[in-house]
Amino acid sequence: MDKILEVKDLHVNFATYNGTVQAIRGVNFDLSAGETLAIVGESGSGKSITVRSILQLLAKNADINKGTILYHGEDLLKKSKKEMDAIRGNKISMIFQDPMTSLDPTMTIGKQVAEPLLIHNKVSKKEALGRAEEVLRLVGIPNPKERMNDYPHQFSGGQRQRIVIAIAIVDYPEILIADEPTTALDVTVQAQIIDLLKELQQKIGTSIIFITHDLGVVAGIADRVAVMYAGKFVEYGSVDEIFYDPQHPYTWGLLDSMPTLDTSEEDHLNSIPGTPPNLLNPPKGDAFAPRNEYAMQIDLEEQPPFFKVSKTHYAATWLLHPDAPKVTPPKGIQKRFTKFKKLGDNI
Ligand code: ADP
Ligand code: MG
Repeated sequence: MDKILEVKDLHVNFATYNGTVQAIRGVNFDLSAGETLAIVGESGSGKSITVRSILQLLAKNADINKGTILYHGEDLLKKSKKEMDAIRGNKISMIFQDPMTSLDPTMTIGKQVAEPLLIHNKVSKKEALGRAEEVLRLVGIPNPKERMNDYPHQFSGGQRQRIVIAIAIVDYPEILIADEPTTALDVTVQAQIIDLLKELQQKIGTSIIFITHDLGVVAGIADRVAVMYAGKFVEYGSVDEIFYDPQHPYTWGLLDSMPTLDTSEEDHLNSIPGTPPNLLNPPKGDAFAPRNEYAMQIDLEEQPPFFKVSKTHYAATWLLHPDAPKVTPPKGIQKRFTKFKKLGDNI
């Protein structure tokens, strides 16, 4: 498959009063035409900063101090502001978590959806509004013609997220980045938005980078999954490899902490004991070691390289070293994987 995006050895630091936060510490991945890559990991692991680096939507104190981001072979980090403006929202666009703050409360939704076209393509206002109506229909807003002149507050939360998606896809982007697009929504609406993204992908052929802290959500949408921890990818593979044959203890923890049909919403994030390391002063060895019940001496001393599990599956854990003791995922997880997969299929 054609690689349209290749991120290589990305490092991002933030200058703060307390020192330098090493938020992204050597991230590598690629994206092929038409595929969906999910990036999962606990809050603070660096998911948003990774994708915001692609579009250079970072806070002022950020410094992308190493790496390349190749889009069709050209390094986005070397583009001028003007060149990036032409790519952002047009070739590569992004939807954010909170639909209310992504929309302008004082502007009609018709105008907001049409705006990217007016900025980028210099089409007439009439054409842009026509296309906005068409895209609002595509994302499932009922009676779009009549609703073009309504304001965001006149729509439900789920509909507002559909409108945000309409803005992101109005110019048929090649890459759609969805940063926790369903986190603020209830479970039913969440499922509808996932369905919508899948449907849009088929209709407009866009590639998707889907970010979530909730591994359960990705089963229904992703082709490949990358698991992120403390500013690095720790495991990546096909969705089946990650769900049925996970290798990294952090991935086991994430899978084990997923809500299932019979657990409540709240109790799923706290179940990996301990907290992520302070990235002002990242540990010398494996950043997950202090929380890893299978950690060995080497975990405290040296960062693990990626070990190959299959042609498409890699994990950075010393447990995969040929000399490491053989450990198996905690009991009971295997049964739960099947359940998540089913849950994902429903979503
Ligand atoms: P995620 O999206 O996975 O929840 P982020 O990518 O938003 O995590 O953040 C990754 C890390 O970068 C966090 O540790 C966060 O504290 C740090 N970070 C993000 N933005 C800034 C900033 N403007 N200044 C300092 N640190 C930041
Ligand atoms: Mg985030």
